[in-house]
Amino acid sequence: GLAVIWAALAQAEYMIYKDATKPLNSRIKDLMSRMTLEEKIGQMTQIERNVASAEVMKDYFIGSVLSGGGSVPSKQASAETWIDMVNEFQKGALSTRLGIPMIYGIDAVHGHNNVYKATIFPHNVGLGATREPELVKRIGAATALEVRATGIPYVFAPCIAVCRDPRWGRCYESYSEDPKLVQVMTEIVPGLQGDIPANSSKGVPFVAGKTKVAACAKHYLGDGGTTDGINENNTQISRHGLLSTHMPGYYNSIIKGVSTIMVSYSSWNGVKMHANRDMVTGFLKNILRFRGFVISDWEGIDRITSPPHANYSYSIQAGISAGIDMIMVPNNYKEFIDGLTSHVKNKVIPMSRIDDAVKRILRVKFVMGLFENPLADKSLVNELGSQEHRELAREAVRKSLVLLKNGESADEPLLPLHKKASKILVAGSHADNLGYQCGGWTIEWQGLSGKNLTSGTTILTAIENTVDPSTEVVYKENPDADFVKSYNFSYAIVVVGEPPYAETFGDSLSLTISEPGPSTIQNVCGSVKCVTVIISGRPVVIQPYVSLMDALVAAWLPGTEGQGVADVLFGDYGFTGKLPRTWFKTVDQLPMNVGDRHYDALFPFGYGLTTDPTKTI
Ligand code: BGC
Repeated sequence: GLAVIWAALAQAEYMIYKDATKPLNSRIKDLMSRMTLEEKIGQMTQIERNVASAEVMKDYFIGSVLSGGGSVPSKQASAETWIDMVNEFQKGALSTRLGIPMIYGIDAVHGHNNVYKATIFPHNVGLGATREPELVKRIGAATALEVRATGIPYVFAPCIAVCRDPRWGRCYESYSEDPKLVQVMTEIVPGLQGDIPANSSKGVPFVAGKTKVAACAKHYLGDGGTTDGINENNTQISRHGLLSTHMPGYYNSIIKGVSTIMVSYSSWNGVKMHANRDMVTGFLKNILRFRGFVISDWEGIDRITSPPHANYSYSIQAGISAGIDMIMVPNNYKEFIDGLTSHVKNKVIPMSRIDDAVKRILRVKFVMGLFENPLADKSLVNELGSQEHRELAREAVRKSLVLLKNGESADEPLLPLHKKASKILVAGSHADNLGYQCGGWTIEWQGLSGKNLTSGTTILTAIENTVDPSTEVVYKENPDADFVKSYNFSYAIVVVGEPPYAETFGDSLSLTISEPGPSTIQNVCGSVKCVTVIISGRPVVIQPYVSLMDALVAAWLPGTEGQGVADVLFGDYGFTGKLPRTWFKTVDQLPMNVGDRHYDALFPFGYGLTTDPTKTI
């Protein structure tokens, strides 16, 4: 009897860390003083959702779970399914002695892209073309709502890479080759997290409650500067070059209260960033005074050695000693936990390093209100793919389009097109393919092909929706020249480009339009007046065909709202986008960037023609 009462009293003990009225630092200090080494190391461990369960969360004191790539509970999982899954893991975490909430993270890099029926925004390269940080901020806010709608409080975005070579398979995740343009686009951070309070001190993370998410600036540092654009490779550059080209986005993200920063797989002058103590601890934490947590990339510490995971014990030592706070393990968590535990017990890693990591992780969790609201409710489910967000994505698509050519001279423009034409041709592999429009990081890691992957509007459907009912729209994916000539088309719209890809799979030395795109262009544009729309993550080889085209539009990877393309082609809105990248003539000119001395671009950085919005309704 007495023992039961005693236990109840102990349970009811007042705990500062649970009291939201107490100052942040007192809560952190109180909680840290109660934690065992095992509990601390658990906080530093992030695992994949397919190895997670309530039991694993509880038994290993796991601090974080992720959906990496396109890791989804089921292909067409609803918001409710996601919430139930996240809450189940959370209940496991909450059932531990101290009840520290876990934080669930996901790659929401162009909207909530892993999730069926979410609004898919243009990839960052297209947003770079808009030159509108304020628009990007609104996209961040919409993305935060859609992510929270599924019970998730943390995103691995934005990617603030400065892609210096379009041969890099992640070039479309970069807003621009220009450090200044990337820097201003960090407005997405307050969009995702909310505006930092006026009195907050520099470097302190901030997330404004239940409709916002913790953001993650990635990949620190120099991910977009590798030789020949080879993914995860070496960035050979002076310290000045590194800081002036790749760092500006981080300065601004930190000023805006970014909660977390992800380390890059790449190396700087031969040293893996995951093992670079000078840059992670020395620069980020000590010089820039970043106070959020540093997270590794997926198996990022494994890749410190070559081949990966060759000496995991060393990898753990090197990564944690460099200053990484949370490890995206994400599968072999037992090996990680055991390895780190023995390093601490053997004094290879000092306790102060563990405490620094845990303090940062707890700080983010406290700041964002996770202790007060660990479990998601279903009040936001209607935000997922809402009409309002689709309108915003459509606006972003309109503003991302770059008009590269419009007639042989300004006196005879082809665009805007007439809605009332007798017969028009729509052709090309990318005209009626939602998966191609969305690119990589859409439902699946590598993206998909086809129409039914999620909800949205293809460019063909958008054109059909836009033209006058009297206009006949003929769609043929790859017509031959005779076909084109045998009809009396008023004009043609050819939509071609790159297939979807992500990360290393997108590395390319040739940067060609995928087959049979070039022959589609030749057959159609050689036979009738045509506008070519390029769907691609980066500039591609088009110089040989430009003279055949009457008009040329770069549409990047516009996402689910293809209607935005038709809005501008048919003159409801004008073209305003400007190239976020230099468009090369031939691949042997690469790398080629704004400010390069020998500048012989097909279209220079910042290029983009305009059209008058002519209402033709
Ligand atoms: C990518 C990261 C991503 C992580 C989790 C890695 O392969 O480099 O950008 O956040 O996977 O999906």
